[in-house]
Amino acid sequence: MGEFDLIARYFTRPVRQAALGVGDDCALLAPAPGMQLAVSSDMLVEGRHFFADVDPDALGHKALAVNLSDLAACGAKPLAFTLALSLPRVQEAWLAGFSRGMWALADAHGCELVGGDTTQGPLNLCITVFGEVPTGQALLRSGARPGDDIYVSGTLGDARLALEALLGHITLPGEVLARARQRLERPTPRVPLGLALRGVASSAMDVSDGLLGDLAHILKASGVGAIIDTHLTSNLIAVGAYSSSAEGQFDQNFVRQCTLAGGDDYELAFTAPSARRAAVAAASQASNTPVTRIGTVLAEPGLRLVDAQGQPVEHRYASFDHFQ
Ligand code: ADP
Ligand code: MG
Repeated sequence: MGEFDLIARYFTRPVRQAALGVGDDCALLAPAPGMQLAVSSDMLVEGRHFFADVDPDALGHKALAVNLSDLAACGAKPLAFTLALSLPRVQEAWLAGFSRGMWALADAHGCELVGGDTTQGPLNLCITVFGEVPTGQALLRSGARPGDDIYVSGTLGDARLALEALLGHITLPGEVLARARQRLERPTPRVPLGLALRGVASSAMDVSDGLLGDLAHILKASGVGAIIDTHLTSNLIAVGAYSSSAEGQFDQNFVRQCTLAGGDDYELAFTAPSARRAAVAAASQASNTPVTRIGTVLAEPGLRLVDAQGQPVEHRYASFDHFQ
C-alpha cells in the first residue's frame, strides 16, 4: 500500500464544518464571526511518550486526547485537526487500530481531520488542533489573582502509578493496574469543563507534566504564589484506597510524588475568585466533571505545600522535563 492509498483508506473522511478537508494543498477552515481560532500542537514519540507495543487504538486516542486537552485548557471548542505521521512501515492492522481510536475520540468531540503529512521514519505522531473561542474569552495562564481558589479536575497520579508498574518499579494487582493503565493510555480531555469555565475561571491550564510544575507556570504568568493542601491532592489518586491499604504499602511520599508531579494526568488546573464558588460548582455539574478545591492563590511568590494539620511539607516533587 502506497502513501496515497494509506491516506485515503485510514485518514480521509468527508468534512462537515471545514470548508475543505484532506486532498488539496491546504485545508480551509471558516471560523465563525466573533470567534478566535485556538491552535495547539503536541507530538508523541515512540520510546519517549509511549511504549512500542502499546495498543494502537489507545495510541490513536491519546495522540488526539492530549491535543484536545490543550483546547480544553483554553476554553476552546474543538473544530478540526491535522495529523503528521512518521511510520517505520505500513502495517494495516496497526493503522486500522490507530485510526479507530483516533476517529472515536474525534467523533465524540465533533473534531474533524482536515489534513496532515505522512512519511516513512521512526514512529512519531504530531497532531495540531484548531478550536474556537469567543474573542477575548479564552482561559489563559496569566489571570490568577491573590485570594483566588485553586482547583483541579478529576483524579491525579494514576497515570504515573501505571507507568511505575509498567517499568517494573512497583507491583500492582491486575485489577488496580488495569484501572491505572486506563488513565495512562486513554486520558479524558476535559473539554466540557473548559467550555463551562469560560467567564468563571480566572486562569487555567491542563496538567500534563505534573500538577506542581504546571501550576508554577500559572503562578509565573500571573505574578503570584500559592498554597496547596497536599492532604487534598493525595486523596485524588483514584486507586488511593489500594495505595493506602496494608497491601499497597505505598508511603506518603510516593503518593505525593504521583499526585503532585506524576505527569500524563490531562486534568485541568484552574483558579477562580472565591466569590465564584457556586459558579464553579455549576460548571462542574453542567460538564459532569468532578473538581476539587486544593488551595489558594497568594500575593507572595512561591509555591507552599501544607499537610492536613497545616504543617509545611518540604517541596521537592520535581515535574517532568524532557531535557533534565
Ligand atoms: P503535499 O505534498 O501538497 O504536502 P501530501 O501529498 O503530503 O500533500 O498530502 C496529500 C493530502 O493528504 C493533503 O491534503 C494532506 O493534508 C493530506 N494528508 C497527508 N497525510 C495525512 C494524514 N496522515 N492524515 C490526514 N491527511 C493527510
Ligand atoms: Mg506533504
